[in-house]
This record gives sequence, C-alpha cells and structure tokens, in this order.
Amino acid sequence: MSDTEKRTALVYAECAEGALRRVALEALGAARRLAGDGGSVHAVVVGGGASAAALGTAAAELAARGAEVVHVVDDPALAGFAPEAYAAAIGAAIAAVQPSIIVLGHTAAGRELAPRVAAAVNGGHIADVTAVDVDDDGGAAAIFTRPLYAGKAFEQRRFLPGAPQVITVRPNNLPVAEPVAPGSEGTIAALAYSAPPLWTIVRDVVRKASGRIDLAEADIIVSGGRGVRSAEGFAPLEELAAVVGGAVGASRGACDAGYCDYSLQIGQTGKTVTPKLYIACGISGAIQHLAGMSQSRVIVAINKDPDAPIFGVADYGIVGDLFDVVPLLTEQFRAILQ
Ligand code: FAD
Repeated sequence: MSDTEKRTALVYAECAEGALRRVALEALGAARRLAGDGGSVHAVVVGGGASAAALGTAAAELAARGAEVVHVVDDPALAGFAPEAYAAAIGAAIAAVQPSIIVLGHTAAGRELAPRVAAAVNGGHIADVTAVDVDDDGGAAAIFTRPLYAGKAFEQRRFLPGAPQVITVRPNNLPVAEPVAPGSEGTIAALAYSAPPLWTIVRDVVRKASGRIDLAEADIIVSGGRGVRSAEGFAPLEELAAVVGGAVGASRGACDAGYCDYSLQIGQTGKTVTPKLYIACGISGAIQHLAGMSQSRVIVAINKDPDAPIFGVADYGIVGDLFDVVPLLTEQFRAILQ
C-alpha cells in the first residue's frame, strides 16, 4: 500500500478474565492516531467459555471509544490463552479487515502474539513502543520510540512503506482512546473462527497474585527490597498500597531472600513497570532493578543509606528507616484520601 492510501488499523484488545485491560484502550488510542483522520480503526476481542459473556461489554466499550467495527471471536477453544489459537483468531480479523497496521499491548500475551502475527502477514514488527509521533499525513511515516539496553537509552524507528506494520505498546505510556460523541459509536460484529490444529494446549492457569492489581498496569506501586527484612516486613507496604489503591512490587533481593513471591519481582529479569508513582522501600537501586522501574513518572525512595544509588533516579528521597517512614506515609495518605 502507498503512504497516501487510506490507512486501516486493527487493535487486538486484550481482556483479562473477561474484562478489557487498560492497555487495550491505550492501543486503541495509538491506532486512532496512526490511522489518521481519513483512516479507519477496527478492534478484535477474543475469548470463549466463561469469559464469553464479558466480551460484549468489552466490545461495547471499544465501540464507544472509536473502534468503527469491533470483531468478536467467541469460541470455546479460546476459553484459555493458547497462543496458536489466539493468533488464528487475530488472523481471522486480519483476513476480514486487511489492516495496514496492527496494534497490540506489550503484555505477556502481546509479546507472544505479535511476532506470530507479524510473521503471518509478512510484515515488520516494532516492540515495546513507549511513544508514537504522528505527522500531518497520519501514521504513514510515524516514528516509534522504544527503550534499549534495559531503559538506559531510547531509539526511534519507523517502518519502510509497503508491508503491514505490527507494534506492541508498553502499558501505562500512551493515552487511552477517548470516548467518541454519542451517536458515532462503532458497530459490533461476530467473526467466524475455525480452531487450527494446536501444538500446545493450556490445561490450567495457576494464578499466584489473584486479587492484586496487575503490576504492569498499576498507577501506584509500593515496592520492597531486602531492607524489608522478612515476609512480615511487607505488611506496612501492603497497607500503604491498599490505602493509595496501588500494587505491591519487590526487588529480586527481596524475592531471593524468600520475603515474597517472584511474581512481584521488578527489574531486568522481572517485570517492567511505568506507574505514575513508584515508592521504593529498602531497595538499594542496583542497575538490574532500575531497568524495570526507572521510567516511572515519579519515584520516591526510602532508604537508611544516604548514598544508596536509588537516590540517583529518585525525584524525592527520604533518608530514614522504612519501618518509621512507611506507616507515617500511610497515615497521611489515609487522612487525605478518606
Ligand atoms: P540490597 O542491595 O541488599 O539493598 C537493600 C537496601 O535496603 C540497602 O540500600 C539498605 O540501605 C536498605 N535498607 C536496609 N534496611 C533498611 C530500613 N530499615 N529502612 C530503609 N532502608 C533500609 N534485581 C532486581 O531487583 N530485579 C531484577 O530483575 C534483577 N535481575 C538481575 C539479573 C541479573 C543477571 C543479576 C546478576 C542481578 C539481578 N538483580 C535484579 C539483582 C540486583 O543486582 C540486586 O542484587 C538486587 O536488586 C538487590 O536488591 P535490594 O536492593 O532489595 O537489596
């Protein structure tokens, strides 16, 4: 397709336990900008079994936020996340829509699906996008920013014209798609799907962090390190997180010491997070930890050691004992927020 042709974008709108993930709305916002004023934006939601009922709610929200057509692929084979099955469902939407750009969230599922989708359409793939610069012509010559070397540098890329473009957007970095004017909502259409032969079958999903806010999408994270000293030492951090509506994270030091589960680990070999507020408690600030959180909008560090490297990236530093400081913060936030 030439750069001047009308652009069509397709968003894979990821759901978790039937509910739309916020990154799906961020992907939709990016897709709307990339399609430009004359372009069109479609979305696809995928699920089945127990989650099927919620697909309609997710589809309605996407339609209300600028997806012209929301394609719903509802099949019992899609009840659990089986990558080949989900890639085939997205493939059905691609066949129907013929998009020039496909946008997914840079989540565990999105990272699994995007290369499969890019290979299937023989397109290019830019992963982990944190910013999208669109010029007056719409997204044809858009510039995509992504981190390198675990967040120590950024690069800017653009696609060569011609081939379909596949991007994944990092959660919590791009604005969500705003609702469209009443009366201009999109339509919702069921999309036929036939399950491909599967090499892998998901038998069960074991959730370690049920009931917690997803770290990747949390606006506020209270994170503990080896300075927390024990599993019980996380209690004041849990309390602060509960008061501010945040999630609890950890350094690898805390995970290795057995104070918390590895599902909470943030850093180079853990999760990458970009919350609005990251409160690091008893974390020294090793480079591998910074790799996962240094892009947070505001960083508050609490550490007994005034020379701890974490203060080098912190916007606000509190030199003190976390067991004194964290309860004080909790008390103050409780007074403000209640
Ligand atoms: P420490 O470095 O021991 O720091 C504890 C801090 O707590 C100190 O600064 C101390 O002053 C402070 N403190 C102690 N008591 C208190 C108190 N009462 N109040 C306030 N402050 C207190 N690390 C990660 O976090 N994530 C990763 O993904 C990761 N990946 C890695 C990958 C590789 C290949 C390697 C080699 C390492 C990786 N690491 C990772 C480990 C990393 O190098 C550090 O060892 C780890 O981050 C240290 O954790 P910490 O800051 O909790 O512990």
